Amino acid sequence: MTTALGKSDLPGKLVVISGPSGVGKSTVVKQVLDRLAGRLVPSISATTREPRSGEQDGVDYYFLSSEQFAQRREAGDFLETAEVFGRGHWYGTLWSAVRPSLAAGKWVLLEIDVAGAEEVLRQFQNALTIFIQPSTIEELERRLRSRATETAADIERRLEVARREIALASRYKFQVVNDTVSQAVEEIVTILQNEGILDD
Ligand code: 5GP
Repeated sequence: MTTALGKSDLPGKLVVISGPSGVGKSTVVKQVLDRLAGRLVPSISATTREPRSGEQDGVDYYFLSSEQFAQRREAGDFLETAEVFGRGHWYGTLWSAVRPSLAAGKWVLLEIDVAGAEEVLRQFQNALTIFIQPSTIEELERRLRSRATETAADIERRLEVARREIALASRYKFQVVNDTVSQAVEEIVTILQNEGILDD
């Protein structure tokens, strides 16, 4: 049942946060979610990439095979999909992950890439978009290398994608520089409050 409700029946709001891989998005997002618990709910994405150590299916992502992902895409189960990093790994937001919360009037947080954000904006013009910037590209490179969860070739690819994503950041309504996590969290919480997340 992917189309039980029309979009006009969804009083909640989508909040899209993007930023290059390694910018510290997950840490910032986790703290923002803690601060706004109950008002802002995270969407769990689906992906065809392998789980990293410690990641759990249905918690960090829904880990799907390429075939499962393609089938669900064909069935119209996704609000948006994107092939991230151009190496055959798909990511996507399932309608089932966002629709119940949107229908209940909640704000739903999507941590997705730039291509996915554009697909969301085509369908939800009032989506609130926030781009997290690294303080410098050198800092981003240092973070990616210290994470050491990816191969050198992966890191190069992610840096290349990061440069391209940063070039598109001006399309987002808000930009936040992640100099320190606490200050980035504060800025995002303030943006969401100013946009009415705590209003009834
Ligand atoms: P990772 O593989 O490091 O978990 O995520 C890689 C990138 O995929 C992140 O930059 C994240 O923004 C993006 N991503 C995660 N989930 C989704 C999704 O559902 N849709 C899109 N378009 N991108 C996603």
